[in-house]
Amino acid sequence: MDPILARYQALEDKILSYAPDLDTQRMFSAFTYADSAHNGQLRKDGSPYITHPLAVAEIVADLNLDPDSVISALLHDCIEDTKATHEDIAKRFGEPVAALVEGVTKLSRVHYTSKEEQQMENLRKMFMAMAQDIRVILIKICDRLHNMRTMEYQSPTKQREKSLETMEIYAPIAHRLGMQKLKWELEDLSLRYLDPVGYKEIETELAARSSAHEDFLAGIQRRISQRLQDANVACKVYGRVKHTYSIYRKMFAQNKTLDEIFDLYAFRVIVDDIPECYNVLGCIHDMFNPVLGRFKDYISTPKPNLYQSLHTTVIGREGIPFEVQIRTWEMHQTAEYGIAAHWKYKQGMANKNLGTEHDFEWVRRLLESQQDTDAEEFVRTLKVDMFADEVFVFTPNGDVKSLPAGATPIDFAYSIHSAVGNRMVGAKVNGRMVPYDHALSNGDIVEVLTAKNAKGPSRDWLKMAKSNEARNKIRQWFKREKREENIATGRSMFETELRRAGLKLEAVTNEAVLSHILHKVRHGTLDELYAAIGYGGTTAAKTVAQVQDELQRLGRLQAERIASAAKTTAESMVIPGFTGGGGKTPKHSDSGIIVEGLGNCLVKFSKCCSPVPGDPVIGFITRGYGVSVHRQDCPNADPDRRKPGEEDRWVRVSWVEGGLPNYKTNLELSAKDRDGIALDVAMVLSAAKVKVTALSARSMADGYAVVHIELEVKDKEELASITNKLNNIQGVYQVVRATGK
Ligand code: MN
Repeated sequence: MDPILARYQALEDKILSYAPDLDTQRMFSAFTYADSAHNGQLRKDGSPYITHPLAVAEIVADLNLDPDSVISALLHDCIEDTKATHEDIAKRFGEPVAALVEGVTKLSRVHYTSKEEQQMENLRKMFMAMAQDIRVILIKICDRLHNMRTMEYQSPTKQREKSLETMEIYAPIAHRLGMQKLKWELEDLSLRYLDPVGYKEIETELAARSSAHEDFLAGIQRRISQRLQDANVACKVYGRVKHTYSIYRKMFAQNKTLDEIFDLYAFRVIVDDIPECYNVLGCIHDMFNPVLGRFKDYISTPKPNLYQSLHTTVIGREGIPFEVQIRTWEMHQTAEYGIAAHWKYKQGMANKNLGTEHDFEWVRRLLESQQDTDAEEFVRTLKVDMFADEVFVFTPNGDVKSLPAGATPIDFAYSIHSAVGNRMVGAKVNGRMVPYDHALSNGDIVEVLTAKNAKGPSRDWLKMAKSNEARNKIRQWFKREKREENIATGRSMFETELRRAGLKLEAVTNEAVLSHILHKVRHGTLDELYAAIGYGGTTAAKTVAQVQDELQRLGRLQAERIASAAKTTAESMVIPGFTGGGGKTPKHSDSGIIVEGLGNCLVKFSKCCSPVPGDPVIGFITRGYGVSVHRQDCPNADPDRRKPGEEDRWVRVSWVEGGLPNYKTNLELSAKDRDGIALDVAMVLSAAKVKVTALSARSMADGYAVVHIELEVKDKEELASITNKLNNIQGVYQVVRATGK
């Protein structure tokens, strides 16, 4: 019998052993289809090409994957390397198989290598995201495993390239999917090409001592088996030297020689159920000395990839430490095959579509188990795969960009830099020009064409962009562009208006006045002012009128300063907005207040109504601050608003002669808004020799201005006379005392 046909037959038998209802006719026709499609092609080692898909199918069958996966493995290189098409395969073997083959083909087209560590995780994500069906990843890993096994026939460059990709992408993904056995082999094969010297060193040393190792392994294995047999435990005991890459890592990480590696050996005891695991653990710890702190219970707390076992390290009579892993058969399957073990326990799946989401129970368990671990990232990557909310594309340099699903070249351009987006004049995907709204696919190579004189984004781009980043940057551009336009038009409108008023721009912008004018018009910079005029936020005419007022005020102020200085009565000088340090209100009854029945106690004048002598007042005994004095008409002293239970705290107080020289109080003046109102108020107060501690004015929306005055007076009479004077200022509606809030 033809050796290749014999291999095929063995493959069929293997599948029949776990999938008895296999359609052998269909399987065989897939084999012959692949065989004739690859007819004439040779592998690098000179064997017919079909030996590769056959070997991949064998590995897939070793994982006990469903027949569709095995068929897809046989066909996996057909679309890429032969005349076969998706349609043709779909017609012969069904759409699910065609989709798997297409998926593997797409994964193969991308090179998952980068110089930067940070890019590797993105590449892993891209790898996961590209496969819409987890079986695509499994088949691709099997494909890579066979290619790595036969890598010796490739050029040294290709060997290194593929090995790096395997070490950085395939092995970590196999690990995340819990496929320990494949991961180890991938790592060892990669190491062989990535560090041939280090690899050889370990292999040679291990080989030189292989008989010693074997004696040790056999001896321990015999002793454990014997002991467990005596204890009536049904089990299987394996011993092995740990895999090369794990030894390599330990040697390098800990800078140790092979002899110094702590645990080179690992034993595995596989039993039927969980209680038996703990039973075996007891026996092992009884036979050997456990190494402190090395016991790990991954049964009660599984690893993120669902790995379960008991681990312990012990030392025997020989003084050589070794690790013992204890697990059930089911745990063993999961440990070796990971996510693929899921299919092992599924019966009668030949007719089921395993690509649909409800079949991902195992994946869901995986997701749940990984949620609160450092593998959180993995949860996210797997979700990308399941729910496809991200798309991964390449820059022409081979960097990976992650974008929201449905992203367009616009998103891509802005993800590189806003300047790239703003100057974009076209985009290429995989070398072909595409429209701006072209939806990007995983693995696409995207190139943005830019021009220095590009006219910038159009409003349509906001609709085409899928990422907030791109939309924000486009909006910013419009705002900024508009701002520049606004500043230009605003400035020319302002200058025109100034000329009309007989002023030059320089009269406004000179150092002596600019800051006052900007303060007056309430803008931080001239550009802001221009932008506001250009935008229509204010008018040039209004602004120029304000400027004129301010220039006049500054002139008057200067004149007044000169006059005051001449009088040398600095004490009475009032500058608008000046806030004096009017001392603290005294706390004793020499404040001019007598509290009935309390004698000489601490007195404070309430800020809400600031009473002055002559005002009818009332006191409130506060907690810890003596008596606080309110005007009787203060809302806070209103009998209706007093809190229940506090009635006794309200006490009668009265003014006496010989109190303070001055009392601080407040006035609120409202007037028709006009320029110079605050100055007029200040001038009246100044003329009356009133000590003002603060004065502020603000324009109200409805054409009013409110001037707040904080001042010191002797008594109510003085206050009344001041109020009178203020009332005579042109445009003043009313002057009232500020009362409680
Ligand atoms: Mn292949």
